[in-house]
Order: sequence, then C-alpha cells, then structure tokens
Amino acid sequence: MGAGPAGIYAAEALAGQDAVPIAVDLVDRLPAPFGLVRYGIAPDHLKMRALRETLRHTLAHDRVRFVGNVEIGRDIELDELRRSVDAVVYTYGAAGDRRLGIPGEELPGSMAATELVAWYCGHPDADRAGVEEAVTRARDVVVVGVGNVALDVARVLARSPAELEATDMPQHVLDALAAAPVERVTILGRRGPAQATFTTQELKELGHLAAATVLVDPADLATDPATEALAAEDRHVARNIAVLHEFAGHTAEPGRATVRLRFHARPVRLLGTDRVTGVEVERTTVDENGRAVGTGALDVLPADLVVRSVGYRGHPLPGLPMDGGTVPHDAGRVLRDGAVSRGEYVAGWIKRGPTGVVGTNKHDARETVASLLADVASGALRPGARDGDWVDRLEHPVLLPDWQAIDAAEIALGATHGRARTTIHEREALLAAVRSAAAAHGG
Ligand code: NAP
Repeated sequence: MGAGPAGIYAAEALAGQDAVPIAVDLVDRLPAPFGLVRYGIAPDHLKMRALRETLRHTLAHDRVRFVGNVEIGRDIELDELRRSVDAVVYTYGAAGDRRLGIPGEELPGSMAATELVAWYCGHPDADRAGVEEAVTRARDVVVVGVGNVALDVARVLARSPAELEATDMPQHVLDALAAAPVERVTILGRRGPAQATFTTQELKELGHLAAATVLVDPADLATDPATEALAAEDRHVARNIAVLHEFAGHTAEPGRATVRLRFHARPVRLLGTDRVTGVEVERTTVDENGRAVGTGALDVLPADLVVRSVGYRGHPLPGLPMDGGTVPHDAGRVLRDGAVSRGEYVAGWIKRGPTGVVGTNKHDARETVASLLADVASGALRPGARDGDWVDRLEHPVLLPDWQAIDAAEIALGATHGRARTTIHEREALLAAVRSAAAAHGG
C-alpha cells in the first residue's frame, strides 16, 4: 500500500524469494509509482532520482502488479481490501508536514517545505497557484530548519535557470523559478552547527551554486566545549563544521544571490498583516541536554517567503491505528490494541518515522517481509479463498502498461523542449496519457 521506495523494496523482497509463492499488488494512490523518488528527491539530484531505473525492475517483475490510482476510502475501503488479499503491507510514508506553532504561521507567503517540494516535483496535489504566487514575490526567503530538506529547498530556489534545465521539473515550475526574484536565502538552525541534521555532501553542494554564494557568520561557529566534544566523537559533525568554516571565509559578491546559514536562531513570530513580511528571530544557546534555550535577544529578518522545513509527519489511514506519526508495530507486524493484527504489516517512514536515506528503507522493508514470511512458515498467516480479483472491481486502476504510457508521454513532452523528460503534474493529464495510449492500441 504505497509504491514508493519502502513499498517497492518490500515487493522486491517478497517477489525475490522462492520459499512461499507470493503475488504482490503494489498499490498507490497516484497514477505514477516511485513515491518520494519521484515526488521528494530534489529534481536537481539527477543521480539519486535515477534510482527509479533500478526500482522499475521490481515493477516489471512477473510476481508484481502495479495498481495505481487507488485511494483507500475513495476507491476501496480498507476492510474490503483486507478481505480481498492475504496480507497488506502499509508503506504509504509520511506525507504530512510539522508546524512551528508560532504566531503568523498561517500568513500567505508562509508554507511547509512539503508544499514547495510537491510543487517543484510536479505532484498532482500541489497547490500550484498558491505556491507560484509566493515564489514569484520571493526576493528574501527564510527557510526554517537545518535538515537535508531545508538544503534542498534553499538550493533549488537559488539555482540559476540553466542549472535546472537538466531536471524533469514541469515546465511551469522552471518558468516560475526563472522569474523568481530570489536575492537572499537564509537558513535558520535553532541550535548550533554541531546539532544540524544535514549531511556533509548536501552541505558542500551549497558551495558550488552557479549564481549564489553561501555565507556563514564566523561568530555562529564560535566553539564551545559541548560542540568540541560532539565534533570529537562524531566525524560527521567534524566534517560539517570544517565545511562551514570554509563557507565562513566567503564574502557576498555583487550580482550574485546569497544563501546564508544562520545558527542559534529560532523563529518566534512571522510578521505581516496580509502576507508575510519578516521573521522575528531569537538568539539561542544550547543547554547541557542539547536543547535550544532562548536568550531574549531578538532581531528581524525581512522575508517574502518563509518555508518551514521542520520534518514530515505520517497521517492516519481510515481504519488503521496510529501512535503519533507512525503505525504501532512489532518487527513490522501491525499492532492493534497492543496485539499483533493478523495479515497487516508496515514498512518505511510510516513504520519508523521520517528519517534516513532512501536505502534505509531496503533494510527496513526486509525486516517486515521476514516477519511476514515467518508468519506464513508458522501458520499464523494462511492463504484464504478469494472471490475474484479485487482489481476487477476498481473503476480506473492504472496498471503497468498504463504507467508505461505515462512514462512515454513524459519523455515525449520533454523532447518538445529538448529535455530528457518533463513531469506531467496534473492527475487528469496523467490519466489522459493512459487513455490516449489505450485508444491508440484500440483499447
Ligand atoms: P530533519 O533532518 O529531521 O530536519 C528537521 C530540521 O527541523 C532540524 O534541523 C530540526 O532542528 C528543525 N526543527 C524541528 N522543529 C523545529 C522548530 N520548531 N523550530 C525550528 N527548527 C525546527 O528532517 P528533513 O530535513 O525533513 O529530512 C527528513 C529525512 O529525509 C532525513 O532523514 C533526511 O536526511 C532525509 N533526506 C535526505 C536527503 C538526501 O540524502 N539528499 C534529502 C532530503 C531528505 P532540531 O534538530 O533542533 O530539532
């Protein structure tokens, strides 16, 4: 249930073993597979996005059937799906966003990174009008959070049009980003550089932007015993701090945008009446438990666009138990009221929370599949008799040949602009590509 990395890795593990003959339906709400590989990995990370070339082998496996455009509660109730198959593995990720909980957060011009990322990746549910209205005014941008998503957002906004040409972003996204007046991007970390969660490779990338200079105030890197201890015990922290010291030697250059990393700075209020105009920021120190503590020293950063990049959050599926942002489980077996629920499993971000890189889901999915196979071996999970194929009861399922038609349409659309691919962003246009391919084949 969810054809992103976790779902595809689970399908791969199920289809790739011979102990139990298993047919896998890889179900997704959207007409396109790949989840965050398509709709989350930054489009300028071409190598990481090329992972879909590996994932597509699993979609084409003869024991795997992709069934897209199926929404639980709209096309089928969870109970009915559960009655129609022997086991369900929930792998639908964590698509929701976390909030800051500060005044002004609802102002126009303030949005979650998830909204901006959905827009620039061409997600069918993206609020195109809302995001573009904000992006076309974005001269001063503040990004809250110092994780990899914050760096993705800052980098994509600061890229020159030429740098984005090789991506598969929808054409209207390229056009809006080219027209955006971005001059200053400030990334705010509420704690120190030693506590930042971005990875060194992604941090270094900010130093290679064609049209923007990355800056760090040397005062933000002033060292203290806690930071030194963290850097001594964690090479990742030491490497990040070394890169930040290099950035601290940069100076702004006329005609180039700036991307400034600011630490010990937490937003306390977004300013503005009709739309966001600034962010009030409080200087912090980090206490002995690693928590940010306000010092009361305030300053204001001008902002036309504020993007909160403070983590994802899993949302409940009607009929599925949730504990915070994840599904309670024991080694991937879903727990209902503390007891294992027969035939229900979970993997990926909705199992363990929104952490780790794409590859982390491979190991995670294998643990879940191992539990499922052990349940078959022990007799805890037995195949049942079925009344027909549940997919036959769906109105508009998108199966593998249909997805292949979308894939071909995106490549053809890209060719019209001299690009390798252009993502089709509207659900209706994705489905139209399926219909026109079916019509061409006399279907
Ligand atoms: P993340 O790494 O958890 O970063 C969230 C950031 O938000 C942290 O800096 C956190 O600071 C901050 N934050 C949380 N609440 C805040 C608040 N109220 N005020 C101010 N700051 C706040 O999450 P993410 O960036 O969304 O990434 C999710 C996962 O995807 C991560 O595992 C990431 O590595 C992965 N990812 C990887 C790549 C890549 O490999 N290139 C790209 C994108 C995402 P505190 O630490 O102080 O809480």
